[in-house]
Amino acid sequence: MKTPFTLSLAAGLVAGVLAAPTLAADNLAGFHNDMGGCQNCHSDANHPTDDNLTFENEQCQSCHGDLAEVAESEQNVEHSPHLSHLPGEPACTSCHSGHEKSVVYCDSCHSFEYDMPFGGKWERQEPSIDALVKANSDREKALKAAPRATTDIVVIGSGGAGLSAAVAAHDKGAKVIVLEKEPLVGGNTKLAAGGMNAAMTQQQKAKGIEDSLALMTEDTMKGGRNINDPALVEVLVGHSAASVDWLTGLGADLNDVGRMGGASVNRTHRPTGGAGVGAHVVQVLYDNANQRDIDIRFNSRAVEIIKDEAGQVKGVLVNGAHTGYYWIKAEAVVVATGGFGRNNDRVSELDPKLKGFAATNHPGATGDGLDVAKNAGAAMQDLEYIQAHPTLSVAGGVMVTEAVRGNGAILVNRDGKRFVNEITTRDKASAAILEQEGKTAFLIFDDSVRHSLKKIERYIELGVVPTNASLKALGEAQGIDGAELEKTVARYNEFVASGQDADFARPNLPRSLNQGSFYAIEVTPAVHHTMGGVKIDNQSEVLGDDGKVIKGMFAAGEVSGGVHGANRLGGNAISDIVTFGRLAGENAAKFVKQ
Ligand SMILES: Cc1cc2nc3c(=O)[nH]c(=O)nc-3n(C[C@H](O)[C@H](O)[C@H](O)COP(=O)(O)OP(=O)(O)OC[C@H]3O[C@@H](n4cnc5c(N)ncnc54)[C@H](O)[C@@H]3O)c2cc1C
Repeated sequence: MKTPFTLSLAAGLVAGVLAAPTLAADNLAGFHNDMGGCQNCHSDANHPTDDNLTFENEQCQSCHGDLAEVAESEQNVEHSPHLSHLPGEPACTSCHSGHEKSVVYCDSCHSFEYDMPFGGKWERQEPSIDALVKANSDREKALKAAPRATTDIVVIGSGGAGLSAAVAAHDKGAKVIVLEKEPLVGGNTKLAAGGMNAAMTQQQKAKGIEDSLALMTEDTMKGGRNINDPALVEVLVGHSAASVDWLTGLGADLNDVGRMGGASVNRTHRPTGGAGVGAHVVQVLYDNANQRDIDIRFNSRAVEIIKDEAGQVKGVLVNGAHTGYYWIKAEAVVVATGGFGRNNDRVSELDPKLKGFAATNHPGATGDGLDVAKNAGAAMQDLEYIQAHPTLSVAGGVMVTEAVRGNGAILVNRDGKRFVNEITTRDKASAAILEQEGKTAFLIFDDSVRHSLKKIERYIELGVVPTNASLKALGEAQGIDGAELEKTVARYNEFVASGQDADFARPNLPRSLNQGSFYAIEVTPAVHHTMGGVKIDNQSEVLGDDGKVIKGMFAAGEVSGGVHGANRLGGNAISDIVTFGRLAGENAAKFVKQ
């Protein structure tokens, strides 16, 4: 019979219900050793077979069941981590470590204080890329040895850009290996909630929305303070509808069309009912990569792009978390490593006013790709432009998507007053919140907003959304002037009725706030997106400091600069990573064929 490895097991152990000897060990290896030795988990006691820990994870599942089975057994557990929003099928070893204390991966972003058996605290420090490429005997040995694998293209990063590149390159006939340094697929992409911007799509047409390439270009340039590279914006906008079609052709649902900050019309595409876009897109791309048998290697950090004497890419040096240094022979590389929002040292060096800020990003968003690409000769651009997202929940550290405001929520301060056009660009909304008492504000909405966006159910399930049938009581429980809050909402509802926001000229007023219960989420700005990065051309080729293309090197997604200028519009990143990811994959495949 399978024994689900549940949170209640921890309680059982603590209560002494299960065999006592395991209490002495402080990790899972000790626990399993008492049950029969290393072969409980390993095929070879000396080392794991691969960095995905394929064999080891099969052993976990053979005893405890797969993720779905474990989740099924936890229906009564409040906020079960096994019921998380993470796409792919996260391996057991993503959280449950054998020879060190386990850590709940979700705790790397949130603060739900799960009580995990053999659990430790999340405090990961990885060596810098520079430290890993400094001369050391293991690295030298690996570089002198034969490559451990040979392929046409190595894609670094399994976020939306990397997976799009991998699928597109495969479909153009190339052999691909994807490297991912985290134990999970999806990077920041899996967290994207609000949607994907695209103009002139079939979905817009079906809803009677009038848009144009010129309008999306104008919005994007204005949002980016007109320093975006116009050639890259032309690609972003011009291919946006085709990227929506490409994703839906692979099985995605992008039928809901809403609006995010800085857009003149509704052009933000997401799954029907308003579910989070990122986890869905990653799942679709990951499934497609698996259907194509693309080799995806987790816990596998790319540390160096290896070039031959003529300066042409000849492979990638990898540092596997379990198998150490080795190199893969390849003729082209796509750098799709995402941004560096989670690396506050790097962030604050470039923008000192963001020192100590929390971040909305996943833990792998440290900026490795910038170092890897720079060491291979890539030029950088616009690194100093770093965006704060206005609405990270103070409780639980959950980023509340802009779509909540887009669908009608307002922002108030502790005096119960609005202070900004809620759907202005992120830089302006963040600055306005930081001017309020306590540098926080409250998102206020009602049941009609709740029911317009499925994503809100996730926030409620996570316990970060206080609610009350009385607006006044809700406000007072949160330290907001309740009487003033009632007046503010009544005034806002008048603006909705008249179609004109006389206070802050908010351009969209989708619904009155007067149905069912009311909700409040205390929010504060957090580092969210890094606009700058590797310099690319409109073919996703990487440019060197001399402005020339580095042969065989492509980059796409948040690791690149120029697309978003000084400030990215909500919804434009998913569009960026899919379009430039596809382009990088297709052009890398074309390159290796030549
Ligand atoms: C909470 C949140 C919500 C968001 N919501 C939206 C939204 O609604 N709409 C929108 O347009 N944008 C949104 N964004 C922004 C958008 O999600 C990201 O900009 C985009 O997904 C980045 O995609 P990417 O593929 O470039 O990078 P990522 O998805 O971050 O993937 C990069 C991957 O590379 C891996 N990696 C890094 N270094 C190495 C290395 N050395 N070796 C191997 N692997 C490496 C990382 O671990 C990561 O998995 C959101 C971002 C966040 C954080």
